[in-house]
Amino acid sequence: MQVKGYAAQNANSPLAPFNFERRELRDNDILIEILYCGICHSDVHAAKSEWEGTMYPIVPGHEIVGKVIQVGKKVSNFKPGELAAVGCLVGSCQECQSCQDHLEQYCEKGPTLTYNGIDKIDDTVTFGGYSTHIVVDDKFVLHVPKEYREEDLPKVAPLLCAGITTYSPLRHWNVGKGSKVGVVGLGGLGHMAIKIAHALGAKVVLFTTSQGKAADAKRLGADEVVLSNNDGEMKKHVNSFDFIINTVSASHNLDGYLELLKRDGTMCMLGAPATPHPSPSIRNLIFKRRCLAGSLIGGLKETQEMLDFCAKHHLTADIELIPIQKVNEAYERMQKSDVKYRFVIDMASLKK
Ligand SMILES: [Zn+2]
Ligand SMILES: [Zn+2]
Repeated sequence: MQVKGYAAQNANSPLAPFNFERRELRDNDILIEILYCGICHSDVHAAKSEWEGTMYPIVPGHEIVGKVIQVGKKVSNFKPGELAAVGCLVGSCQECQSCQDHLEQYCEKGPTLTYNGIDKIDDTVTFGGYSTHIVVDDKFVLHVPKEYREEDLPKVAPLLCAGITTYSPLRHWNVGKGSKVGVVGLGGLGHMAIKIAHALGAKVVLFTTSQGKAADAKRLGADEVVLSNNDGEMKKHVNSFDFIINTVSASHNLDGYLELLKRDGTMCMLGAPATPHPSPSIRNLIFKRRCLAGSLIGGLKETQEMLDFCAKHHLTADIELIPIQKVNEAYERMQKSDVKYRFVIDMASLKK
């Protein structure tokens, strides 16, 4: 079917209206009318080709909430009229060890990304959520928990990337009651990390360079705020953290955080820096058996678990809802970190 969307035609062009074809439903496909789509930093990087490999035109968007319109012959887990959500993945090989372990994001053949990916069946380039509709294999479609009301839906969209990207490492490293968790950076990821770690029962400390963020961090669930550029404040926390989740992708010195970890503590990196971080002191790792780790979004099973967890704890993202006509302005503001904490596109604006 013909659908409307917004695309960038090259690295320097703003996003603009773009009509394109969505495939006919395969037996396992679901046609979703998109209601809301969050704007992730990855969208900006990909649209502007700041990472390698952007295929133009690009239709970004991987924080999708919508309504099922039609289902393929073999789909039994969704019905027309139900709510549905799609995150960063729309396909994987389904056979490798990672896929068998429900970790499709680490598919050894490479997962199919929701946009700027290559469909494994017809080799076409995938187009993301800045569009009226999307067609997705049912194995990659999530259920929106019943606890969410209609007015919550825009705020649910960012859970599909920012939510799972922070939930997955917090769970993998067993954060819970009694854990002391640090969150570095208060943006789209950081604000979800605070909310989820708090809901898991951890003591949460936000690291930031701006005092102005302290009140907001506490409102989101942080127990304490530490100014990371204040040596005295940092030193008070040496050897005390079980886990630190680092959401900052700008190149920075990691040693100041690594020395805050307890013996066997881990710092997990979520942002890929454009220029490398200075090499951390290996001594710092060796003497306390500390780990420096990374993590990428989450698998489908865990993404559903995250949605159910967030619904149970009444967690959503803090957002600013915009019409799609303001998407370029939103990108500019994101580059200045001027958003609390996620822009979400109201897709009704695209039908006008
Ligand atoms: Zn994302
Ligand atoms: Zn696989």
